Amino acid sequence: MLSLNINIFLMNYKILLTLIIISFSQVAESNPDPNEVLKKTVITPIAWDITDSLYHIPAYDKYCGFDQKSIWGFKIDQTKTKDTSHIKLLHDSCDFHSPWTGRITSSYGWRKNRPHYGVDIKLNTGDSVKSAFEGMIRVSKYSKSYGNVIVVRHQNGLETLYAHLSKRTVKAGQIVETGQTIGLGGNTGRSFGSHLHFETRYLGEPINPMDVFEITDTTFKVHKKNLDLTADNFAFVKEVRRIKYHRVRSGDSLWRISRRYDVTINKLCRINKLNRKKSLRIGQKIRYN
Ligand SMILES: [Zn+2]
Repeated sequence: MLSLNINIFLMNYKILLTLIIISFSQVAESNPDPNEVLKKTVITPIAWDITDSLYHIPAYDKYCGFDQKSIWGFKIDQTKTKDTSHIKLLHDSCDFHSPWTGRITSSYGWRKNRPHYGVDIKLNTGDSVKSAFEGMIRVSKYSKSYGNVIVVRHQNGLETLYAHLSKRTVKAGQIVETGQTIGLGGNTGRSFGSHLHFETRYLGEPINPMDVFEITDTTFKVHKKNLDLTADNFAFVKEVRRIKYHRVRSGDSLWRISRRYDVTINKLCRINKLNRKKSLRIGQKIRYN
């Protein structure tokens, strides 16, 4: 009986002690030493991370992503679309700035049997290249063909691309204003002479920049405040995709390819700009339709 009473006493004593300690620590916490608080306060820089909020990504609802590695990014085939995409380009005239104005050296379309998805504008290395509209930098990197390249995603879903830069002055994920310098003109990548290669894209598919902008040797401006895109705007892409190629293997000849695909040697030479006396190279791509 005595030992039971002692045990009960000890238990109650422990509970009481615990309660006193808890209350004491609460009092201590509610009256913190200001110097201690200052010491404990860690100032973290506000670095916006893409995973923090998808809300801030321009046109996220259309793309369902923001690929910062791939220059082409997410693609939705626009060549068969029956819909018209209504795109608001400008709310105000200050919503657009010319990226660079200069002599046009190459247009959108076929160029030496290769598709050219942009407009080339002459500049000097070091000239400032500006973002046409406000937006977020989706890609800022070096590529073998594009050289230093920047892709900007805009609120309306359009993307603009600026290639062959000598220097990139923005990083992926960065928000840019209309007319903000994003890099300096150059001659990097597959380029012969300093120029700006400028592309316009929608949902990963290229559009002729001339459909959106009036670009001449002395002008670079938006045609209209609104842009309606239909499958017609993607006719060139459709044409490019229809083309089929044969890759030259050991033992191939123009005669053999012409027989295989039922196409004349003359046509093969014409569409591939080939000299029929010149032998083929293994691995060479020969268009046959
Ligand atoms: Zn180009």
